[in-house]
Amino acid sequence: MAKLEADVIIIGAGASGISAAVAAAEKGASVILIEKGSTTGGAANMGMGFFAVESAYQKAQLVGLTKEAVFRFFMEYTHWRVDARLIRRYIEQSADTIEWIESMGVKFLGAYKYFEQSMQTWHVVKTQGSNAPAERAASGMFHALTERAEELGVLVLYQTKANKILFEDGHVFGVEIESNGESKVAEGTCVIVATGGFGDSPKLIKEYLGYEWGKDLHSFRIPGVEGEGLKMLWEAGAAKTAPVMELTYTTPGVTDVYKTLSETMRQPGLMVNLDGLRFINEEILNNTVFTGNSISRQRERLGFTIIDESVLASYKKTGLDYVTVHHNIKTVEKWEKELQSYLSGEEAEASGLSMLHNKDQKEARNLFEAESIEDLCEQTGIDLEGLKKTIAEYNEFATSEDLQFFKKHRYLRPLKGGKLYAAKHFPAGYGSLGGVAVNDKMEALTPEGKKIEGLYSCGTDACGIFGDSYCFYLPGNTMGFAVNSGRIAGYEAVAFLDSLDAEE
Ligand SMILES: Cc1cc2nc3c(=O)[nH]c(=O)nc-3n(C[C@H](O)[C@H](O)[C@H](O)COP(=O)(O)OP(=O)(O)OC[C@H]3O[C@@H](n4cnc5c(N)ncnc54)[C@H](O)[C@@H]3O)c2cc1C
Repeated sequence: MAKLEADVIIIGAGASGISAAVAAAEKGASVILIEKGSTTGGAANMGMGFFAVESAYQKAQLVGLTKEAVFRFFMEYTHWRVDARLIRRYIEQSADTIEWIESMGVKFLGAYKYFEQSMQTWHVVKTQGSNAPAERAASGMFHALTERAEELGVLVLYQTKANKILFEDGHVFGVEIESNGESKVAEGTCVIVATGGFGDSPKLIKEYLGYEWGKDLHSFRIPGVEGEGLKMLWEAGAAKTAPVMELTYTTPGVTDVYKTLSETMRQPGLMVNLDGLRFINEEILNNTVFTGNSISRQRERLGFTIIDESVLASYKKTGLDYVTVHHNIKTVEKWEKELQSYLSGEEAEASGLSMLHNKDQKEARNLFEAESIEDLCEQTGIDLEGLKKTIAEYNEFATSEDLQFFKKHRYLRPLKGGKLYAAKHFPAGYGSLGGVAVNDKMEALTPEGKKIEGLYSCGTDACGIFGDSYCFYLPGNTMGFAVNSGRIAGYEAVAFLDSLDAEE
């Protein structure tokens, strides 16, 4: 069998790995891309688009965002606890990356927001024959990147798992890989690790983030992202950094299944914890990261939104307050049908997404219909006295103003009686973020801050750019970081190879 040898060996062909492969190959390097699954694109095949600033789309849409403003915002948001050089480089490159992807035949619909207060940075990929944002739209982009990689001669080894980064005389030497039960070595001067974090490892989630998956966390589990790259990097001497979960919140069995029920129960109405106490200005519910953080602080990490027939009637009349781009539910016209289907336990046609985060919760009841507050508390376990007091106070606020958390008056809809509905919300997430120290060249760093020559990491494994919470104000930022950091890693690996050639 021919020897497996290339200038650059990349582990993981997801968003960042395939980007790194194309970038390195475009600069003339030979590349082997190792992917344990059978496709490229990884978790990003589930996504819709990515972050950029000062793109041609934003200019055409009169979005006045500047790189400077976004850089300043980013650093304020993270309290300067992240690598300013890397953030600056990422932002600087981001619009060019849109053009780079377009050069492979991909089209974008334009730049979008996630929610009202967010910025218009999410460049949603256009799907063939449609002019509307569509779930999983980004998968087309990974086909294009893969075609480009193949044209450039990148050797993609599917269903091949990387196990260990190898060193010889202190230098990166290659990667130990395994396919069909056979162990081999792919030799290379540079290794780029791009394995997507550990969103599919309940063990690492518990160890590093403190959540028990399926109990108090219902994050997406994208098959295959099990922290193997991080373990290889740490074993190779790279420093650990504290990972976080890209947090959001969910109602298992409802979210991504019954879209009208789910979206109606994610409006800025009343939200309480198990003690029946408000804990959030519910206007924040459209920032799913902050809401996930806030729910995580509550007893049993639970939050409940509560509406009644009168609130439902007002949504029927005026439509929902918050409409999301990906679900695009504006009215509650399907409420009764969906409610009946949910309460009767009918098998619903679910999007594949729900199966990624709640398969163990299919039997649990997380949406409730009740005849009275007593009935609701009985069903949900919410403290009756606490809830009665909260509702009385909330209804009082609705006649004047929210003296507790200053929610805008237009979202203060009193609960006037009749049937009540509650949704139980748990912390959820898209996956882990970060875990290994890198510099602005995506070179892996030792605990002493020294680079490990020839060893790089990009994408989720190296995504320590948000501090403690993913920045939902700048949409598209995880795929944006994955594609851009992959590109940086690819270019920098080739620059390193060139520097070795120059020395000889
Ligand atoms: C439902 C959903 C929707 C999303 N939508 C968006 C969005 O619209 N915008 C956005 O910015 N972000 C979005 N994201 C996040 C985005 O998908 C990730 O940020 C991105 O995929 C990270 O890229 P990555 O290369 O680090 O990891 P991944 O894309 O997950 O790729 C990792 C790859 O490494 C492979 N691998 C792992 N271990 C090994 C091993 N030992 N050997 C070989 N291969 C290995 C895996 O099989 C996988 O293919 C979404 C995520 C989800 C779950």
